[in-house]
Amino acid sequence: MHSPQFHVDHVFTTRRLSAYLDGELGADECRRVERHIDACPGCRRTVRSLHLVVGGLTLLRRCDPSRLAANVIERLRSQARRDDDASRRWSRDRSARLRRR
Ligand SMILES: [Zn+2]
Repeated sequence: MHSPQFHVDHVFTTRRLSAYLDGELGADECRRVERHIDACPGCRRTVRSLHLVVGGLTLLRRCDPSRLAANVIERLRSQARRDDDASRRWSRDRSARLRRR
């Protein structure tokens, strides 16, 4: 059974996870998110699956901006662009196939 504070922090963290991963949080918010991730298996799972997306690069402990952080963000964004392209290609091919029928 988690404390009410845990749930407050969970909501706080899930709403800021993307800003956290983009390195956009202030130091206080960043520490609060990291403290919660340490305590919350669900949020840890989410962060871990994002680790897999970027090939195992660590996204934790990113309060200090660095080139590594920028590279990770760039990799996430280009992966998202590739996914977009792939799904656009898929639906274009699909409409071409339907037209040929
Ligand atoms: Zn959580």
